[in-house]
Amino acid sequence: MELKQTKIKKIDIKDICKLYENADIKEAADIIRSGGLVAFPTETVYGLGANALMSEAAKKIYAAKGRPSDNPLIVHISKTEDVNNIAREIPEIFYKLAECFWPGPMTVVLKKRIIIPDDTSGGLDTVAVRLPDNNIARALIEVSKVPIAAPSANTSGRPSPTRASHVFDDMDGRIDMIIDGGTVGIGVESTIVDLTGDIPTLLRPGAVTVEMLQEVCTEVDIDPAIEHLLASGEAPKAPGMKYKHYAPKADMKMLKGNEAAVLDYLKKEISKSEIKTAILTVDEHWAVLEKIIEDNKKENIKLLSLGSLKDMKTVAHNLFDVLRKCDELGVSTILSESFDESGIGRAIMNRLKKASGFNIIYLGEL
Ligand code: AMP
Ligand code: MG
Repeated sequence: MELKQTKIKKIDIKDICKLYENADIKEAADIIRSGGLVAFPTETVYGLGANALMSEAAKKIYAAKGRPSDNPLIVHISKTEDVNNIAREIPEIFYKLAECFWPGPMTVVLKKRIIIPDDTSGGLDTVAVRLPDNNIARALIEVSKVPIAAPSANTSGRPSPTRASHVFDDMDGRIDMIIDGGTVGIGVESTIVDLTGDIPTLLRPGAVTVEMLQEVCTEVDIDPAIEHLLASGEAPKAPGMKYKHYAPKADMKMLKGNEAAVLDYLKKEISKSEIKTAILTVDEHWAVLEKIIEDNKKENIKLLSLGSLKDMKTVAHNLFDVLRKCDELGVSTILSESFDESGIGRAIMNRLKKASGFNIIYLGEL
């Protein structure tokens, strides 16, 4: 792959009108229109953007990320009505969902129009569409005058980027520009809902939770790939969900069970472990685990908190940052606590399970 000079442009403007006039946004839009790659912030994670209508541009995304070509890209638009330009046979439920959750962290899968090239849709006759709730993202799409295909701006398989520095670590020299708009708000990727069948089906959990979708749709199906490791021969409906994903470099295990059993397991692991290990825990368990590490003089064990059990949104926000920190620390093993799977907990657990390759140790009754 030809090495590029990756420009970094810092933008910190809250006023969307001024963004349309911003010289860096105009330069980024020119790059997108002419088939280049620009990483930009959204409210979920940083996206790696390209002109969604141009096959050659979409191909560059797959090359920069090392992404398998059957894993389709989400197409980002700046106004709900623009969905008509890229999708057809749009069901009534789409309009209800869009009214409730757009702009926001919800992607819908619809039947595509032929204007969307196969390289964008991974060869499928459907297209995933999202209207992001981030002023920089929307201004970039608007000024580019084309829909922008943008997967998460990480190397394929690695944790998604929640800061511009994460994008830089993975993409320096591979893309034309990074727009640094600060740390993202949500921290896990959008909820994906397939609207091409009779019943809306959740393909990937995110900050628009199943409970929220159920308030709008009478019924919501859940793709089994979200919760379980599929048997060979089974395929998830979102092609990307079949790949090991979000993964730090170390081997990772999830601990699932009641609080006492998990803490007991961790205590035993701390006292016997000789290898560089990260423990992903929560604020509530920090003091007790720190004391055991100190008492056992275990400098090989690093404690990292994902946040408080009382604030699952912060846990979601910290998740990928903490997984990337495990790489920086160079640990060989990660032990992670589990979370309740209601609300945004479902999205958190989906990412953790996938990061661990569904390597789950069951400990005692929940
Ligand atoms: P990313 O852009 O990295 O957040 O990944 C996008 C996710 O959306 C992947 O899991 C894709 O498989 C999924 N996706 C994109 N387009 C479609 C589609 N047309 N049908 C089903 N899943 C899709
Ligand atoms: Mg991704």
